Amino acid sequence: MRKKIVAGNWKMNTTVPEGVELAKAVVAKSAEVPSDVKLIVATPFTHLVPVAAVTAGTRVGLSAENCADKEKGAYTGEVSAAMLASAGCQYTILGHSERRQYYGETDEKLVEKTRLALAQGLDVILCVGENRDEREAGRHFDVCKTQVENVLFQFTAEDLKHIIVAYEPVWAIGTGLTATAEQAEEIHAYIRGIIAARFGAEAAEELSILYGGSCKPSNAKELFAQKDIDGGLIGGAALKADDFIGIALSF
Ligand code: PEP
Repeated sequence: MRKKIVAGNWKMNTTVPEGVELAKAVVAKSAEVPSDVKLIVATPFTHLVPVAAVTAGTRVGLSAENCADKEKGAYTGEVSAAMLASAGCQYTILGHSERRQYYGETDEKLVEKTRLALAQGLDVILCVGENRDEREAGRHFDVCKTQVENVLFQFTAEDLKHIIVAYEPVWAIGTGLTATAEQAEEIHAYIRGIIAARFGAEAAEELSILYGGSCKPSNAKELFAQKDIDGGLIGGAALKADDFIGIALSF
């Protein structure tokens, strides 16, 4: 049985005290959510240590939003996978479209980052997805296929047990535009098929594939009802504990 997961990506929002309060509210409300749904909060680097103190020993997992593509050394301003693990993280998001778009995140760098994160015992939430032009040109399947192949095909079926895929159509992120449940499901099923062809049916069946892009309590139910949608990576709605938990109650 693959895992149901709702992960909140806080992006560059909240001060440290605000983030600690938000984490406390998520932990407090997490009791309302069925125990088979994994909850994760992904916070800015500065928040990880104090938020880890809030989430430790609870059912809420802690994720970073990125990590360095180098192990350690003279890389001013970077944060390594080992630092994340030692801060109390169990996960890191990698390849978010905002990082691909604004910070030159390439698939080659993502292979390195994934390798380093896995080596530190972190699970990776790898984001893939097409932009608006690519969708309008009918290239969405090809774009997702290339991103999945370029990164995930460099790893083993064993590694895949520690990787979660998030399909996030870029045109739906923070725009209020949500992919329809049918649009999301066809890409999720397609990605699962690519994984099955390469790693086998069992590995594909166990892979959690999350949907991200303006997911909120009002549309999560329809999305999560799809056969190949195993939960959500949530941006804006993760900044309010009630909305985040409302989404997690939508399975
Ligand atoms: C995201 O950034 O991962 C995301 C899905 O954002 P939003 O929910 O705000 O569209």
